[in-house]
Amino acid sequence: MNSLIAGNISQVRAHIDAACQAAERPQGSVRLLAVSKTFGPEAVRQAHAAGQIAFGENYIQEAVDKIAALRDLPLEWHCIGPIQSNKTRLVAEHFDWVHSVDRLKIAQRLSEQRPAERPPLQVCIQVNVDGGATKSGVPPQDLPALAQAVAALPRLQLRGLMTIPEPADSPEQMRAVHRQAKDLFDQLCRQGLPLDTLSMGMSADLDAAIAEGSTMVRVGTAIFGRR
Ligand SMILES: *Cc1c(COP(=O)(O)O)cnc(C)c1O
Repeated sequence: MNSLIAGNISQVRAHIDAACQAAERPQGSVRLLAVSKTFGPEAVRQAHAAGQIAFGENYIQEAVDKIAALRDLPLEWHCIGPIQSNKTRLVAEHFDWVHSVDRLKIAQRLSEQRPAERPPLQVCIQVNVDGGATKSGVPPQDLPALAQAVAALPRLQLRGLMTIPEPADSPEQMRAVHRQAKDLFDQLCRQGLPLDTLSMGMSADLDAAIAEGSTMVRVGTAIFGRR
């Protein structure tokens, strides 16, 4: 009876494989993060039965409850939503990854609050590449200093960058925005940071993101249905 989510996952994986091939990138060079926000533990179980391990969540308390209900499965939980200071402890205690670090204060709290018995929290810095005024994400000019500071925190492991670009008017423009993110990523690598993750691309911009070097795409609706 769980063929719907399983079928959706295999379609999304096929889409990712085709985009990798079109970009002449190796199969398996782009990870799929299944964004399960607003969907319950049963939907996540179905996705896991289809081979999905990594899940993305936006709302901290909802995620904590879901993680607890799914303790019996070997899942990897990624926080991709905005984080208020008063939620850092829950994030540090329950998640494996955070994509949405955009201030040093949040990163410091996550590092201080990461339980000693857990491996370092894997983090990406969210960068506001296209300069959307109301959006979260660090402005590109502030990124190098923030990245060095985050990389120095003892209980975090800086893995890369995350972006949520506005929809662009054309595929070319979309690719140009993704290319800017990849350039920022490459600059940080040249500055000596050992980064391996560019979390970029959602349902609408999957192909453009993969063409420009994304290593992780975040897909919700195409897997679980409309929210
Ligand atoms: C919700 C969300 C997604 C997935 O969006 P869909 O349109 O459901 O595929 C990806 N990234 C972030 C940061 C999100 O909040």
